[in-house]
Amino acid sequence: MSEQKNSVLIIDDELENIKALRFILGKDYTVYAERVSKNAPDTVKRLLPDIVLLDVIMPDIDGFEIIGHLKAEKTTKDIPVIFVTGRTDSDDEVKGFSLGAVDYINKPFSAPVVKMRIAHQMRIINQMREIQNLSATDTLTGIGNRRFFNTLINQEWEGAKRQQAYICFILFDIDNFKIFNDTYGHISGDKALKAVSEVITSSLTRATDKAARWGGEEFAIVLPNTPLDGAWRVAENIREAIEKMEIRLDDGNVVGVTVSGGIRCIIPDRAGEYSLEDMFTDADEAMYKAKRSGKNRVCVAE
Ligand code: GH3
Ligand code: MG
Ligand code: MG
Repeated sequence: MSEQKNSVLIIDDELENIKALRFILGKDYTVYAERVSKNAPDTVKRLLPDIVLLDVIMPDIDGFEIIGHLKAEKTTKDIPVIFVTGRTDSDDEVKGFSLGAVDYINKPFSAPVVKMRIAHQMRIINQMREIQNLSATDTLTGIGNRRFFNTLINQEWEGAKRQQAYICFILFDIDNFKIFNDTYGHISGDKALKAVSEVITSSLTRATDKAARWGGEEFAIVLPNTPLDGAWRVAENIREAIEKMEIRLDDGNVVGVTVSGGIRCIIPDRAGEYSLEDMFTDADEAMYKAKRSGKNRVCVAE
């Protein structure tokens, strides 16, 4: 879980309300405020707070209209909205919930109630994030799993197609890993997998470069916006670093592994004649070429 504080955005035209809520929440959360209701949808989009506290009655556009905008926008639709209102009409409350609010706080508010309601929503948000992280992570190595990678590379593929930019896919497979396991045992094999994944992740410097465990002893990397020579350098660096890596086994023995890699770089055609799966297949074939040519090397798909 991140060490960063969770954040709250207060949308309210009255300064008094903002002051009071800031006082109640300022110690536990990063608190933002927006007083101009018609700017609110853009402010939420820009700040992406964990929770929005939304006043109902405001000049220009009211809270009901704002939540409509937030729910219609991909980047803001999942941000929980809590209405803060002086209206105690239960029809209003029903309307708020039907528009997607997660809770309702009445004005004048009591500090402990506000605190507990926000804390309750934050717990839900943080638990959800933790579950999302776990479901995207490979338990042994701690890096992304194939599910995570598939979602990501699909987005990158579409982005590359739109921008007509290069996207590179690298596949690595540990050489003779069956023999490694048979010789040193499965626990040592697991240790080697962890070591390889650490080398791969620490070799990726750009935020958009992502690696994942593709299968048993296979690792995948996506490098968006990267031409072939860049991808080649990344792949060779990793191959070399793994070759040099020393794995200390529990019995004190120091052993090593090597990997073979295949690279496929392409600008996806707009018509989609060449598919994402074609890129995987081509990288896989290049990797097998590296195996056939003697392993511990990187080959590029034609
Ligand atoms: P090549 O050089 O052609 O890739 O040969 P290889 O022996 O690496 O390939 P093969 O596909 O025959 O064997 C893969 C081995 O990887 C077999 C399997 O036991 C091992 N492996 C896969 N997943 C894990 C894992 O999670 N932990 C351990 N310890 N070993 C694993
Ligand atoms: Mg394999
Ligand atoms: Mg192998």
